This record gives sequence, structure tokens and C-alpha cells, in this order.
Amino acid sequence: MTSLPNRIFLSERMRQEIARARRGDRRFALHMIDLDGFKGVNDVMGHSIGDHLLAAVAARLLTIKRYGYVVARLGGDEFAVLQTNLSDNEAAAGLAIEICALLRAPVVLDGKRATVTASVGTAIHPADGANNEDLLRHADCAMYKAKGDGGDRHQFYAADMNLRAQQAAALDAALRLAIERDEFVLHYQPQIRLDSGETIGMEALVRGRKPDGSLVSPPGFLPRAEENGLILAISELVLRNACQQAAAWRRAGLPVLRMSVNLSPNQFRGQTLPLRVAQILNETKLDPRLLELELTENVLMHDIDQVIVQLQQLSDLGVTISIDDFGTGFSSLSYVKRLPVDRLKIDQSFIRDVVSDTSDRAIVAAIVTLAHSLRMEVVAEGVETIEQLEYVRGAGCDAVQGYYCGRPMAAAQFEDFIARDRHVAATAIG
Ligand code: C2E
Ligand code: MG
Ligand code: MG
Repeated sequence: MTSLPNRIFLSERMRQEIARARRGDRRFALHMIDLDGFKGVNDVMGHSIGDHLLAAVAARLLTIKRYGYVVARLGGDEFAVLQTNLSDNEAAAGLAIEICALLRAPVVLDGKRATVTASVGTAIHPADGANNEDLLRHADCAMYKAKGDGGDRHQFYAADMNLRAQQAAALDAALRLAIERDEFVLHYQPQIRLDSGETIGMEALVRGRKPDGSLVSPPGFLPRAEENGLILAISELVLRNACQQAAAWRRAGLPVLRMSVNLSPNQFRGQTLPLRVAQILNETKLDPRLLELELTENVLMHDIDQVIVQLQQLSDLGVTISIDDFGTGFSSLSYVKRLPVDRLKIDQSFIRDVVSDTSDRAIVAAIVTLAHSLRMEVVAEGVETIEQLEYVRGAGCDAVQGYYCGRPMAAAQFEDFIARDRHVAATAIG
């Protein structure tokens, strides 16, 4: 269909170039090219348009061909260019950029416009590989990095890319296993009311457990879980376990405490969140008023109307809703007004220097005024010192969460904490 040579031909020519490079000081570049979104074109516009598009891509790639170069089709929507007689790496980058630009232009077929872009990964012989196998693998690795960064770009292979790819794969496997075995651990951090000094609730904070028993904090695995989609399974475990724990503490006669659970923006995608929350509340027999869901402002960035519908449904269940890390995102205040939000949690970055920094003070004061006029409560996060606590109390915050009152702790320690609570409350309030 494209009449380009195949992988076997490319491999043969690479072997010749490697032999030549051995005799003299010569370099060549292998560019791996993969179309972005080609499957979509095939699915939406049909296979015959897809075939025409591949033929058009092949024709465009042939325009860059110079003496000694090979343009090959490796299969599907994957192509490769062997760039011989390479003067320097800039020449390789130049060609890769040219390939991206060439393929970006739309193709008109049958009166229909089809556009795809390409991800190009480049490996250079001898620096990035001594043999065909390494060069192909490394160019592929770079190509996946380009695609992972959004496509329509090129990427040189870098030695640590392989290592990072291996580490990511190992983390994926560990996360899958941990999900299967329900091995995540929850720690609980108390939230204290500033007028009475009582503990009113706790935030459930997830930790991963390594085989040696040590714990991994969220930044070590949540970003990857967001990328590979495992965040949905992890969130479900966290939500269920937190609800189970809250219900068990209630049955054991602990004071009435509200359990806060963090949500990922991903959980709002499928519109099944309110239903899942209702089911889990039902299974664990937790009073919905004892559950609080924390969302960050980025949730509000995409498809705000869908998010509002779901938040309203959650609110109708009786669940409390709070906005976490408030002040760090880009949420517009007019959205905040439209949301069924009960509490704003001021991000720790504004609390850290609140005692000395006048702009932080102004921000805290503004958030308190905003929240109270919209009938929302304000929680100051990351309070570490008595000075910070006194300041935010004076500024009108309703509650605090932070190391000063209590670090995140395992369930058993949290029980001890609640038992000692009267004492803690007395010192917290001074
Ligand atoms: P976050 O929801 O803002 O949680 C507060 C973070 O601040 C926690 O970090 C807590 O340990 C830390 N912190 C609390 N008080 C203080 C303090 O006084 N000083 C300082 N320096 N830090 C304090 P952690 O446990 O590492 O969690 C980090 C983030 O990971 C959380 O930030 C939250 O965004 C996310 N996360 C944690 N658990 C979950 C979860 O189950 N699901 C989701 N989607 N995200 C989670
Ligand atoms: Mg939180
Ligand atoms: Mg926070």
C-alpha cells in the first residue's frame, strides 16, 4: 500500500551502517515515527480513509529522503527513517522537527480532512546503541516519551529514559499487586475546632506499603497512579476503608467525628462517583453526615457542569464537601459560589509564613471573608506552631489541621490521641 521497504530491509541497512561506522568515524540517526490518534481516524472515518492517510504519510516522508537514507514502514502506523552521514546531533534534531511539521499538515481525502500528528523518537549510533536491537529499542523508548508528553514532538533517547521506564513499570506492577491485596494503609490527621478545642474529625491520608514494611508517601506513587489510571482503584479502596474505619469508631463509642477523604479529578470523569459513594456508605453503614469529600480546584477546570451535577448529588446524600489546597488553583470565585461546598481548606503555603508575611495575611483574611459570606467554614492546613494557630484563630478560621495539633497517625495511635484529646485540646487552645 505504501510501497516502502519493511523492517527487514531497514535492519539490513542498519547493519551495513554499523559496519561502516566501525571502519571510520561515522554516525547515523534512527528516527522512529508513530502517528498520534491514527486509531481514531480509522475508527471514525473508516479504514479506506485510514489507508489513504498512511499512503499520504509515506509520500511525505519520501520527500525528506537523501542519498543513503532509508524510509521504512515497520507496520501499522509506525515508520522509521535512517539518517546516514550524520554531521552532528543538531542535524538529527532538524530532520525530526521537519518530520513532525510535514506530518502535521492535514490530508484532504474524498473531501474529508484528516489530521494526525506524529511522535518521533531518535537514537544515534554509536552513542545510544552499538547494535540494531539496542538502537531500535532506544528509539522506541524515546518515541513513547514524546507520545507521553502529548505527541506532535520529537525526543532524543537519554540514558536515564530506560531506567525511568523500568522504574515506572516496576511501580505499576507494585501498585497492581497492592490493589489486589488491599495493601494500602491509611493514616489519620485530626482536625480541631478553634472555638472549643475539640477534635471534630480527621483526614484519611493514604500510604503505600513496601515489601519491607516501610511506608511510601503519596507523592511517591499517586502521580503515577493518576497517569496509568490505577488511581480509580486506589481511591475506591481508600474510600471504603476510611468509611469502614469511621463506622467502626462510631460503633466503638468514639466521639462523633467526621472522616475526610481526598478525591482525584479522575473520579469525576465517569459520572458514577455519587452512586459509588452511596453504595459504599450503604455497605459500611456510615452516616453520610460523617463523611467529607475533599476536592482540589483543578477538578473544577474541566467540564464544570458535569462536576456541579455530581457534587449536588453527593451533597444531597448528606455528604460534606470541601475544597482542598484552596488558593493554589485557578478556580473562579463565581464557580465557588455555584458549588454546594461546605468548607474551604486554606493551603499550607499561605499558613507557613502567615505570622510574618503581610501578603499571606491578606490572603487568609480574604479567604475567611469570602467563605463566611458564602456560609462556608474555613480550615487552616499545615499549622505547625502556636503562633500560627493563634494567628489563624484571630483571623476567624473555624478549624485547624497540622502538625501542631497532631501528625497523620496510624489507626491505633489515633485512638490513643482521641483518648488524650481533652488534654491536647487544652494545650491547643492555650
Ligand atoms: P492534602 O490533602 O493537602 O493533605 C495534607 C498533607 O499535608 C498531608 O501530606 C499531611 O501529612 C501534610 N501535613 C499536614 N499537616 C502538616 C503540617 O503541619 N506541616 C507540614 N509540613 N505538612 C503537613 P501527605 O499525607 O503526604 O499527603 C499529600 C497529598 O497527597 C495530600 O495533600 C493529598 O492531596 C494527597 N492524598 C493523600 N491521600 C490521598 C488519597 O487517599 N486520595 C487522593 N486522591 N489523594 C490523596
Ligand atoms: Mg486533603
Ligand atoms: Mg490540602
